[in-house]
Amino acid sequence: MSNFLPFNTTMIRNLFTPLPPEQVRDDTPGFLAVLQGSSLILLAGSPQALLQDGSLPAGIVPDQEPLKIGLWQGKPLRAVRIAANITLPAEYEAVPFQGPDTGLDNTLATIAGRAAQILHWERRSRFCSHCGGELARIPDGWGKRCPSCGDEHYPHIHPCIIVLVRRGAELLLIRNAAWSPGRFSLVAGFVDFGESLEECVQREVREEAGIEVTNIRYVGSQCWPFPSQEMIGFLADYAGGEVRPDGVEVVEAGWFSEDALPASPGGGRSISRWIMDIYGKSGAGRTVITTSSSEAQGTM
Ligand SMILES: [Zn+2]
Repeated sequence: MSNFLPFNTTMIRNLFTPLPPEQVRDDTPGFLAVLQGSSLILLAGSPQALLQDGSLPAGIVPDQEPLKIGLWQGKPLRAVRIAANITLPAEYEAVPFQGPDTGLDNTLATIAGRAAQILHWERRSRFCSHCGGELARIPDGWGKRCPSCGDEHYPHIHPCIIVLVRRGAELLLIRNAAWSPGRFSLVAGFVDFGESLEECVQREVREEAGIEVTNIRYVGSQCWPFPSQEMIGFLADYAGGEVRPDGVEVVEAGWFSEDALPASPGGGRSISRWIMDIYGKSGAGRTVITTSSSEAQGTM
């Protein structure tokens, strides 16, 4: 079940109790999640624990006060971001929580992602998008209210579809312009105005690869805190068309044998990898379509 993917709550349910600041009534130092870019700051050589005693590395001043985001192992957990150009003291290291080869424990990657998502919302919700007034937190939640015009604002979480398209024993993979050569993944994209999730799947596959799909079915979802997506995973079957990448967002697209899939850019933590691992092989809860006999007849 996709609940067990990194960045989803289940990954840290035994370690972390999510709470808004007002509900963390314990004022002891507790733990600190210090973020720098897409990295978590840890004591060098002990990458399996968050910084304890709420202490920032000496000499490092954050842009804002650390924010309580819940309880980690029963103690207050505060999150804070430091500037990208700060040089860390030698006893600390910055370990990436995004990307293919981070070496970071999945639970720490997940809590780092949660901290990043909350701090992103806090940074982007300081002022009212309607009147420009300074927003105040609605007690006991992450929403904000504008004292000037009364508008309420809630965390922006963006739904994205991601889909594995199958044609017989082949899978449709694409290479985004931002990915290095040789790395391919599934078609994905943001839900647009007026779309069902299935309509979004159809449009994205058509736009990115020129393909029509059918038999769309949901398989799982994942929080993707870069900065705040909800990835909603689907399977679909090829229905027609010739592969034709759009040449802008997608620079390569093609059918890959399920037995020889290329490297993926999101690494082992992404739902794209999970979908390919679970559903990439023929026979994973579906009818196997073999084309070899008809093709052989066609060549005779
Ligand atoms: Zn306002």
